[in-house]
Amino acid sequence: MAVNINETSNDVVAMNGLAAIGKTMDSQRAFFKSGVTKEVDFRIAQLKKLRKAIVDKEAAILDALKADLNKHKFESYGTEIGFALLEIDDCIKNLKKWAKPKKVKTAMFHFKASSYVISEPYGLTLIIAPWNYPFQLLMVPLIGAMAAGNCVMVKPSELAPNTSRVCADIIRDTFDSHYVAAFEGGVATAQELLRQKFDYIFFTGSTEVGKIVYQAAARNLTPVTLELGGKSPCIVDENIKLDVTAKRIVWGKLVNAGQTCIAPDYLMVHSSVKDELLEEMGKAVKKFYGENPEESKYYGRIINERHFDRIERLMQAGNVVVGGEVNRDTKYISPTIIDGIQPDDPVMQEEIFGPVLPVLEWTNVEEVVNFVNDRPKPLALYVFSKNKAFANQILEETSSGGACVNDTLMHIANPHMSFGGVGESGIGGYHGSHSFDTFSHQKAVMDKSLAIDPPVRYAPYRHSLRFLKFVMSKFA
Ligand code: NAD
Repeated sequence: MAVNINETSNDVVAMNGLAAIGKTMDSQRAFFKSGVTKEVDFRIAQLKKLRKAIVDKEAAILDALKADLNKHKFESYGTEIGFALLEIDDCIKNLKKWAKPKKVKTAMFHFKASSYVISEPYGLTLIIAPWNYPFQLLMVPLIGAMAAGNCVMVKPSELAPNTSRVCADIIRDTFDSHYVAAFEGGVATAQELLRQKFDYIFFTGSTEVGKIVYQAAARNLTPVTLELGGKSPCIVDENIKLDVTAKRIVWGKLVNAGQTCIAPDYLMVHSSVKDELLEEMGKAVKKFYGENPEESKYYGRIINERHFDRIERLMQAGNVVVGGEVNRDTKYISPTIIDGIQPDDPVMQEEIFGPVLPVLEWTNVEEVVNFVNDRPKPLALYVFSKNKAFANQILEETSSGGACVNDTLMHIANPHMSFGGVGESGIGGYHGSHSFDTFSHQKAVMDKSLAIDPPVRYAPYRHSLRFLKFVMSKFA
């Protein structure tokens, strides 16, 4: 069926909601087939348009993040807008290089042939985003999908409605929906999108919903990236620089009021330094947010009452050594550190995703390794120690999506490394050139000369098995 690719605009998408999904699929399929998105110059031009739109809307994005999560503009720029702009700039600068076919070696027994790998776009891609970094976690995958030459449908999170609206506006004002379309909405919209046959699905959110997305993708054998969550441990050795360690843990835990997928979820500290570390962490909280963090303009709020109630319930164990104050009316939960936690306490059974840090202590490194390995593989792991051997042992004997030694969160901000989970914390990764690779199918091509055609491979086979083994081992 011939489809007029000009038939749908993002305004139509916004007006018709779910009904527009099928129509947009058709128009995107037709636009993709036209081959326009395969041109690298087109992709670069579109990324530049997106960059300009983001810069022009900076104030609206900052306002939306303030309204949804009470994020301070310094934090919003650093972790959301600036983060996305860095990704776009990296793509614009390197796209021509990334998109070139990559020559690879050819085993000698193929003589005469050459081989290369073409990065080809998948086609129609779907991106579903969460609410905690609602701008960045929608835009950064979008940038990767566009850079790789795909058409894209995005669904922002309904739980950050102001940011969802700004993202949809940016997309609507910048692109035709036959290229990039935004569908705002909640679970019903996500499910309707998941009923369609996409060529790639990129999902960021909880492990629970990740499994639903994976099942929906399996129906069509659609490849996926699943950026999920989990409980990321923060392991502290006795041999540390106390004040810096305390500041870096507190910072990583309290950015976005703890609603960060890679926030240190729980602390495992050597018993000989526990008291001193907790005292330093208390001091760091005061230094960052003052005597009463509720009055600090730098401290965020919990996204909604449901999550507020969930986190408050998790605070009902152990001994609160820092914080513990809550205000449901303003969705405020103070920075809270809880000592005396048992592994079977509720706070150790689910991802906390809030400003509450339970503390466990250890004396023997094997206890730490076993504790981590007895649980689902985390998205991140942090180890603080001046002893390289200790840090290496933890890294070697445990598995996690990513890790930092002597810091928290920062591995996510290096575009030269892929960011993603492992096991229950996710499948695949992205950022920088890894986003381009994620959204591209790596097509392996062998280009063979027609000039010579030795008969060895054809039946009837006239060479011995010994001869074949010799060729395959010596001319590889
Ligand atoms: P979520 O899984 O509840 O929702 C994510 C998205 O899925 C939303 O757009 C939502 O509308 C949609 N959705 C919800 N239920 C659905 C269903 N039944 N079927 C289809 N779609 C559905 O996650 P969230 O609460 O928005 O985000 C928090 C979680 O995301 C945490 O677990 C956190 O660790 C994780 N996270 C991971 C990363 C990462 O990069 N790995 C980043 C941020 C957040």
